[in-house]
Amino acid sequence: MVFPYPPLSPRKVHTMTLLHRLRSFEEASRPVDPEAAAFLAKRFASLPERNQVPGQMLGRKTTGCEATHGVFPKCNFACKPCYHSADANKVRVDGPHTREQVGRQMKYLSSQRGWGTYAQLIGGEVSLLEPGDHAAAIATMRAHGRIPMSFTHGDFNYDYLRAIAVDENDEPRFPHLSFAAHFDTTMVGRTGIKKPQSEQELHEYRAAFCAMFDRLEADYGITNYLAHNMTVTLENLDDVADIVRSCHAQGWRMFSFQPAAYIGNESRWAEGYRELTSDVVWGEVERGAGTTLGYNAMQVGDTRCNRVTWGAYLGDTYVPLLDDDEPLDHAMVESWYDAFPGNFILRGRAESAVRILRCIARRPDVVPEIVQFARRFAERGGGVAQPWWKATATTFVMHQFIDAADTAAGWEHIQAGTRAVDPRILEAQERLEACAYTMGHPDSDELIPACVQHGILDPAENRELATLLPLPTRKEKQLSP
Ligand code: SF4
Repeated sequence: MVFPYPPLSPRKVHTMTLLHRLRSFEEASRPVDPEAAAFLAKRFASLPERNQVPGQMLGRKTTGCEATHGVFPKCNFACKPCYHSADANKVRVDGPHTREQVGRQMKYLSSQRGWGTYAQLIGGEVSLLEPGDHAAAIATMRAHGRIPMSFTHGDFNYDYLRAIAVDENDEPRFPHLSFAAHFDTTMVGRTGIKKPQSEQELHEYRAAFCAMFDRLEADYGITNYLAHNMTVTLENLDDVADIVRSCHAQGWRMFSFQPAAYIGNESRWAEGYRELTSDVVWGEVERGAGTTLGYNAMQVGDTRCNRVTWGAYLGDTYVPLLDDDEPLDHAMVESWYDAFPGNFILRGRAESAVRILRCIARRPDVVPEIVQFARRFAERGGGVAQPWWKATATTFVMHQFIDAADTAAGWEHIQAGTRAVDPRILEAQERLEACAYTMGHPDSDELIPACVQHGILDPAENRELATLLPLPTRKEKQLSP
């Protein structure tokens, strides 16, 4: 080690620390820091040409969503279909294993994708974790620059939620919590309604879930972001519109629909999933929203995987943020990407405020464009005189998994560096290359699309975990307190 000579005076040390802090702040408040810019550019370059369109968010605003795997595969429901492999329920839910794996996976994802992404705490059923382990996993994800969202069937009570959210001194552990809760008639096992006969019967359970989070906010000031997930089958397709209409004001900020696909546990598959095309399901979502839901002006990865519409409810009227048929909206999205590169997730307020000002100083022409855009948006909702302060931001999403057999064939081509010829397999290959939903494998140094994880890797991974974390024997269960 080299010591400065002569020794620095305390005042000089203080000045240097101040300079160092100012330099760090200057770097952090740039329109986009060089590291984030490099991760984004790499992501954009890796997309197939057909996805490198002006409205593409991947590689411009985000590197994509992420998720955990192999952390707590067990679930206490029996849904049909289920994208988990048949061995998932042979694995014990284990707090230390979850904490360790979440830490390793998030550290790896952070090294590959940088700071500031959305990540799903997902496995089997997250609420089977002890609240302390669940809270520790959330904290670890946040510490690695991830906004965690816990994926659940929603069958837990306020005491469990409170125990995650609040520490032993009754102080909030987090300022904000994100949960995605799955509610639909494909699920079997919910307390009070083991086998729902209709989607309507579940509305009160949907509302009760949101009410728990309202109570948490009232009691502790912890805000929330709640997503409603639904698997769409031929049996409940006709109920999609009613769910949107009846439940949009319950407290959900996102409605996400997953058309059933031939992935996961084969013994829980049924006939007819291929009839559930994206257009058919999305048409029902639009019927529920009462308007056209554009998904091209701003898109995430491949629109054959993901359709996303951002917007807001004003009373019962849904107003999409963007209109696919309006060229000025397309131009606005491009300007926004250029003027405000990267994202502002989990950054300090002062840093973000200065960053926004520096973005505007660099591209002042974006301001009148934003004003014009705001005017168009307001007009879509009935004009500026409407009570916009009561509007609730709501996002509609459809995520269509690829059938496992097509994923396997497409993935083989990706690994071999070849191009599929069969259009169906080529589609799978292209979609996997543009995947927006990734899992991190630190051991093999790989980023894996969720379709590959669930369609190919899960069975072997769960078999290994079943040996590492076997279920307790009857005798152990009897001995446990
Ligand atoms: S997980 Fe599958 S369906 Fe989802 S974005 Fe990735 S490739 Fe597409």
